[in-house]
Amino acid sequence: MEIFDMREFDGHEHVVFGHDARTGLRAIIAVHSTALGPAAGGCRMWPYGSTHDALMDVLRLSHGMSYKNAMAGVPLGGGKSVIIGDSRKAKTPELFEAFGRFVDSLGGRYITAEDVGTTTADMTHVARTTRYVAGLGAKPGEAGGDPGPKTALGVYLGLKATVKFRLGRSDLKGTTVAIQGVGGVGYHLCGMLAAEGAQLVVADVRQAAVQRVCDEFKARPVPVEEILGLDVDVLSPCALGGVLNNQSIPRLRARVIAGAANNQFAQGQDGGALLAAGILYAPDYVINAGGIISVSHEYQGGATEAQVIADIQAIPLRLTEIFERARRENRTTNAVADEMARERLAGQPRQLVA
Ligand code: NAD
Repeated sequence: MEIFDMREFDGHEHVVFGHDARTGLRAIIAVHSTALGPAAGGCRMWPYGSTHDALMDVLRLSHGMSYKNAMAGVPLGGGKSVIIGDSRKAKTPELFEAFGRFVDSLGGRYITAEDVGTTTADMTHVARTTRYVAGLGAKPGEAGGDPGPKTALGVYLGLKATVKFRLGRSDLKGTTVAIQGVGGVGYHLCGMLAAEGAQLVVADVRQAAVQRVCDEFKARPVPVEEILGLDVDVLSPCALGGVLNNQSIPRLRARVIAGAANNQFAQGQDGGALLAAGILYAPDYVINAGGIISVSHEYQGGATEAQVIADIQAIPLRLTEIFERARRENRTTNAVADEMARERLAGQPRQLVA
């Protein structure tokens, strides 16, 4: 495998493969950049079809974390890890302890947390063998715990800022929002939107998740194939990456796209088609930074939940700055965000690991 020649390779500092014969652990950690601090990003557990697929994913995700952390203003670099395996069948406490030893072997260059396929409970097993982990349980009022609700708060505030910029509305009463994926983040987002009088339309491959938001927040369910093309004010992708692609973009009828999913654009998409169609896109790694802001405070220690919330409240300001610059320069919002992230990465001196 020619790793240095892969399209996803972007000058990553470290790419490390970990194996533990006793527990069956097969994992990869990618440290993209420690320019702004130790590299932080969650651990994804996924039944990848091949090592190559897992490597592509961890390279891409760790690169994204450098940009996300730079734009969130947290003192962290970008990294990510993947465990190759089915999270519904292959999880054991021993597997996560072995993963913790793997994380520990990098001596603090990489800090892990939960991601797709892993949970707060899994991270408590990781914490038995390394201190370089966050996203653990937090006491009431303290920073930390499940990052999902904090991500949802940032998406909610960012969605409001995007609606204000594109549609000139300062509240969401009567605004229609289509939410793809009502899991950890989407569920909490639905609660905040409904409390402000937004009309919710939802789709999820898990029927129980759909039922819950319909019962609790009067959301209207639609089949998963229909959610992206609905004639709504806002589309909020909160399920998978790659949803903005050649098939979906011509079908979009929303005026605003503002959701939690990482890597919403499929590879090769540059956002130009959204700009041409008058759709305002909130760059995913800017709007979904609430979780990493919480993780950062938890890892540094001593912060309260109120401080986490105060930092998350800066997300709409950052988005508005991006929107204004994009409008001034007639460029896509994602191109402007990438440029701002690169400026921040280049402008900072290298810090030593924690
Ligand atoms: P989750 O797994 O709890 O929820 C995702 C939901 O999407 C699930 O209910 C799943 O059934 C549903 N889904 C999967 N495929 C679907 C499809 N084709 N159509 C409709 N629904 C589908 O994950 P989460 O923690 O809520 O994260 C959601 C997204 O946000 C992910 O892309 C994640 O990477 C991103 N994100 C999460 C956080 C966080 O703090 N949890 C932070 C940043 C970004």
